[in-house]
Amino acid sequence: MHNAWKRLSDDFQLSIITMVGVCSVAGIAPYAVYRLYDGNWLVSLVDTSLVLNTLAAVIYAWRTGDTIRPGQYLALLYCIGTIVIVTKLGMNGLFWVYVLILFNFFVVPPLQSVIATVSVLGILCAYGVAKPGALFDSAFQLTSFLVTSLLCSLFAFAFAYRGREQRQKLSELATIDPLTGASNRRTMDSELEIAFNEHKRYGVGYGLLILDLDHFKLVNDRYGHRAGDEVLVDFVDVVRAACRQSDRLFRLGGEEFVLLVPQVDERGLSRLANNVLADIRRRLNGPGGPVTVSIGGALLSGHSTIEDWLHEADERLYRAKALGRDQAIIFDQGSNSSTSLSNPSEAAVQD
Ligand code: GH3
Ligand code: MG
Ligand code: MG
Repeated sequence: MHNAWKRLSDDFQLSIITMVGVCSVAGIAPYAVYRLYDGNWLVSLVDTSLVLNTLAAVIYAWRTGDTIRPGQYLALLYCIGTIVIVTKLGMNGLFWVYVLILFNFFVVPPLQSVIATVSVLGILCAYGVAKPGALFDSAFQLTSFLVTSLLCSLFAFAFAYRGREQRQKLSELATIDPLTGASNRRTMDSELEIAFNEHKRYGVGYGLLILDLDHFKLVNDRYGHRAGDEVLVDFVDVVRAACRQSDRLFRLGGEEFVLLVPQVDERGLSRLANNVLADIRRRLNGPGGPVTVSIGGALLSGHSTIEDWLHEADERLYRAKALGRDQAIIFDQGSNSSTSLSNPSEAAVQD
């Protein structure tokens, strides 16, 4: 229950879709029963299908976390529903158009909501012009409806657009390290948890590398903090270029980073560590010359907690430092795949 509240408060889109779901059950379902009782089974069927489709979209959004597609589906459903209602109820049905406009702009991305809303308004006005008296009493009434609904759309668009932009910025601030653009530690904690659970449930192979720049304090001490910052930014660029798009890079703090690698086995993880070592050695140039990195790695298998997994990689990083830096230790000495790679020729042998 606590989890559900957290998702609702964290995900604005999900909260709107859920609210629409609750309103449609509470508001339309009684009508469906009433129409059936009244003998109007066709309208009852339409009402029932509206409620069921809404519920299906809400359940899909909760299960998958995808709120875009259910939002688009509901917007389409309600656009068609509003047109049908207005043509059946006439003027009285027009009030629902304002609700539809707000729903469209808050749930569907801006351009799509403009297209959907303008299409509905266009169809209704064309219907009003084609059937004088059926929807609007006069041309003045039609114009009033068009002007007020367009103004309502403009305000909804402005609020929704700004809201989206600000939510996106906030989410970036909360998840990304502002200096390097790598994901931050908070994001790492939640992604490691997802990886750990996926490994337990479905056996997906995950590996992680902890990367720590060598003698980085010297760069700062000799050339200043700003020069150190530039090295950190370049470091992230080089690491990103060396790995796949699905690999996730996090800044653990200071000059220490974690690379989470999905769908990987022992061989793949050590090959990646080799590539990163070699690329950093070749391409990362600080103000005083090349900067190197030490790496400790661990494949997820049989660890009882995430901390154990991280601890194993951290211990290997510590050993890589103790053995002289600029090397990667991915497995324990003595095991079949034991490796401590410190130069390109060794890396080639390992590959
Ligand atoms: P080792 O090879 O043992 O890792 O040595 P080191 O000098 O890299 O490690 P140490 O932990 O002694 O120093 C880390 C330095 O990283 C200290 C600090 O000045 C620097 N540092 C941490 N965060 C930042 C940052 O955001 N920007 C800059 N420029 N430097 C940072
Ligand atoms: Mg260091
Ligand atoms: Mg460090």
